[in-house]
Amino acid sequence: MTDSFTPPHHQTKWISQSVYEPLLSEKNLTTVFLEDMPLPPHLTRESLTLPSLSEPEIARHYTRLSQMTYGVDSGPYLLGSCTMKYNPKFTEDLATLPGCNIHPDRNPHTIQGTLEVLYTLQEHLSTIGGMDAVTLQPPAGASGELTGILIIRAFHESRGDSSRNEIIIPESAHGTNPASAAMGGYNIIEIPSNDEGRVNIDALQAALSEKTAALMLTNPNTLGLFESEIELIASMVHKQGGLLYYDGANLNALVGRSRPGDMGFDIMHYNVHKTFATPHGGGGPGAGPVGVVSKLKTFLPAPIVIKTEVGFDFFTPKNTIGKVHGFHGNWLCLVKALGYILRLGGTGLRDASATAVLNANYLGSKIKYEIPFRPFYHEFVASSGDQDAADVAKRLLDYGVHPPTTKWPLIVHQALLVEPTESENKTTLDKIASAFNAVAKEDSSVLKSAPLSTTAGKIDQTTAARSPIFSWHSIDPSS
Ligand SMILES: *Cc1c(COP(=O)(O)O)cnc(C)c1O
Repeated sequence: MTDSFTPPHHQTKWISQSVYEPLLSEKNLTTVFLEDMPLPPHLTRESLTLPSLSEPEIARHYTRLSQMTYGVDSGPYLLGSCTMKYNPKFTEDLATLPGCNIHPDRNPHTIQGTLEVLYTLQEHLSTIGGMDAVTLQPPAGASGELTGILIIRAFHESRGDSSRNEIIIPESAHGTNPASAAMGGYNIIEIPSNDEGRVNIDALQAALSEKTAALMLTNPNTLGLFESEIELIASMVHKQGGLLYYDGANLNALVGRSRPGDMGFDIMHYNVHKTFATPHGGGGPGAGPVGVVSKLKTFLPAPIVIKTEVGFDFFTPKNTIGKVHGFHGNWLCLVKALGYILRLGGTGLRDASATAVLNANYLGSKIKYEIPFRPFYHEFVASSGDQDAADVAKRLLDYGVHPPTTKWPLIVHQALLVEPTESENKTTLDKIASAFNAVAKEDSSVLKSAPLSTTAGKIDQTTAARSPIFSWHSIDPSS
């Protein structure tokens, strides 16, 4: 062991200082390996019974588990706003290439290929968003939002403009928008939608003031509607000295066709797990790169990758807000996103967004539930009327269809937010429509008892969410 050795974080982080400090001085060391550590008694166990199993037993166990769950590889997955599109398997191959396994602390001169991948993705995302620079660090869309909010704060403060303490957010926004703005220290000013489900211009005008730091918007919005007055909205916000933040979750509707930067947005996040077909990570790992226009470039998290005369290098922007994630973001997600973008190319990406919109409109035309707001793009919100949307969702499982997002956005009574994505063909869309239409005719007693054909029946969702059991328990065979 040498003095220059720095242990990876996970080895030391959870050992309390009171345990390792005496040990360091006793052994006259700067570094302690886990095996040197006496674990605190409350972390140790007297005995542990682990299952002893053969390979076929393990293979069958995991195969059975994989069949008890449902994902985009099992069938259509309509979860609106989440964009659960198909994740092509070739991107998984890319992520297992030997070059993808390098240590993140390596000298940039020895990892030029890695830097080129990051740089190329930064460039493509900038082009797609109409932005001037991109950071790949944030590990999710929500984390991209917080990054964006911190950049907005740093921008205003750099101009001595620190009285701006409000962020305006439409009522239809995703919950992460107000949460991120509040985490960034801002007061949230919520504005209602107009009768057509779009930004209410009068309400926006009334909310804007010298306290406005930014407006956060997604376009198409959560009802799937394009904010047709976006240029007016942008000029109103800019006139007040505010910035426009674009929540990129719905970029699947526009990619290759329309760019947030051209609409007047100053800053945006990309949900690569929505638009660029990397897997949704059940809370992570994901990636939520953030793009900015040139006046915000110097505030980006560090490092970003730049191209120099001799190759690629890391670069720390002058007024950087600091780091928002370890190293360079979730590298493997970024590799997959770049693979997807390069494989599809400009034409493929344009086809994907057109097909996403076509599929949503075809499905919308077949479904008998009322769809109050139109014309929609890549997703739509139907109302289940007298039926409880959560019951409809459970009953759809019996028809082999993953339910849509339910009861959100709140503007629509008993909302079913449906996003078929471009991945589904006409036969599948017809099957989905007939499942919806069959459920629409059923009475509430059937709906209340659903699902009837799934591995687990109706579960107590509150207990499942509040008291989950994550660890393996030995089961006493005699009980
Ligand atoms: C998914 C989503 C987010 C948050 O993105 P994550 O990557 O899940 O953190 C934000 N806004 C909208 C509209 C979304 O659909």
